Amino acid sequence: MSDTIFSKIISKEIPAEILYEDEHALAFSDISPQAPVHFLVIPKKPIATINDIQPEDTSLVGHLYWVAAQIAKQKGVAEDGYRAVMNCNEYGGQTVYHIHLHILAGKPLGWPPYQ
Ligand code: 5GP
Repeated sequence: MSDTIFSKIISKEIPAEILYEDEHALAFSDISPQAPVHFLVIPKKPIATINDIQPEDTSLVGHLYWVAAQIAKQKGVAEDGYRAVMNCNEYGGQTVYHIHLHILAGKPLGWPPYQ
């Protein structure tokens, strides 16, 4: 898989507002927030899209949700609720080909998400 901007955030070549880091995952604020709270949780392992997740990655993907919930609790948005979404490929609106969980919070969010 080719390098993405997120590989450079993992390696600290590019700065980001890092919210959480462990051996397997990194969370940071989105540079272009679409809600009052908008952060991304990514695996350190580069996986291009949801379609590329392998059986051995399933606990890693579950871990991303656990990390998201810890940060949501820290930020005080867990009780009111939030959207957790992972876009896939062109129709899903994916622009960075390193899977990432978007967490959007801080106001009621519209549904359905298409126009
Ligand atoms: P996607 O469109 O692939 O689902 O989401 C990519 C997200 O990454 C977008 O919300 C975009 O604002 C965010 N993003 C892109 N480049 C950077 C960056 O350099 N730093 C940070 N913090 N977020 C970025």
